[in-house]
Amino acid sequence: MYDIGIIGGGTAGMTAAIYGQRAGKRTIIIEGGTFGGQITSSPNVENYPGIASVSGSEFSMNLLDQAMKLGAETQMAQVTGIRDEGEVKVIVTPEKEYPCRSIVLATGVTHRHLGVPNEERLTGAGVSYCATCDGMFFRGKEVAVVGGGNTAIQDAEFLSDYCSKVYLIHRRDEFRGENSGVKRLKEKENVEFILSATVKELVGESMVEKLILNDKKTGKDFELHVSGVFVAVGQIPKNETFADTVKLDEGGFVLASEDCLTSHPGIFAAGDCRTKEVRQLTTAAADGAVAALAACKYIADQSL
Ligand code: NAP
Repeated sequence: MYDIGIIGGGTAGMTAAIYGQRAGKRTIIIEGGTFGGQITSSPNVENYPGIASVSGSEFSMNLLDQAMKLGAETQMAQVTGIRDEGEVKVIVTPEKEYPCRSIVLATGVTHRHLGVPNEERLTGAGVSYCATCDGMFFRGKEVAVVGGGNTAIQDAEFLSDYCSKVYLIHRRDEFRGENSGVKRLKEKENVEFILSATVKELVGESMVEKLILNDKKTGKDFELHVSGVFVAVGQIPKNETFADTVKLDEGGFVLASEDCLTSHPGIFAAGDCRTKEVRQLTTAAADGAVAALAACKYIADQSL
């Protein structure tokens, strides 16, 4: 029996495990993909208080190491559901079931796709959702990054060190991401901004050959020849599995506020998977702490 079962091994989940273990609770983190979550693909994190600069993979490896040294257990498995048996909540995976006194949902989010023709067919053949994972394959080539948030800005900066040319395509004139990153990009000779433009179609037989773009101001289509396109247009939650257990908002995020309490007593939500205004590394870590301490309080109240 675990005190706190944590679903998702990103920043929020691993922080919850650290706080849970330090409070003397038996915790397990169950992760279906890669421990570390989204931040593993961030080349450089510069906005985490107290750490001026660190790669996302180093940051997440340190977090995992810290949680495991404190005694948190880890398991790679795809969670298929939660069964509530009153005081015991069971995390269900295809291979095994994990009875827990409380659960923290820290499932994060997944990459949003552009939803344009040939995107799925050319994924892995020039279309990528992770610049740090796939950027090396495009050394010396011309590529496009789509998006206007911090991920797109960071991806463009990262790729500009390897690629001969990086086009940053954004659907508006204003960036959603931080100004400091945009400023650095403007100073790069091999980065060109294509603003107020949307991607209509990806073209290529076996590999991406070009993009068909639409200039939103003139309404005209135009072509851009590139070997790769990095899609960084935001993220969507992956909470369908829990839709019968906790209330979700219309976008699929778990309904929970800053206290990380969900509609289901004993189940807490931390990080990007819950409804919130600011989805950052710092807020994910903060949520992990809040959710774990709320779970500790819930367990204490149950045993009164
Ligand atoms: P984001 O901030 O949601 O930005 C998504 C961008 O994609 C927006 O510019 C949006 O345009 C655009 N977009 C959305 N749908 C689109 C579509 N169908 N076609 C074209 N463009 C589309 O996502 P993100 O950049 O992945 O960042 C997610 C969160 O992680 C943010 O809070 C971000 O600050 C954070 N983050 C932090 C770090 C760090 O701490 N170092 C690094 C990366 C990301 P509009 O602006 O017009 O809506």
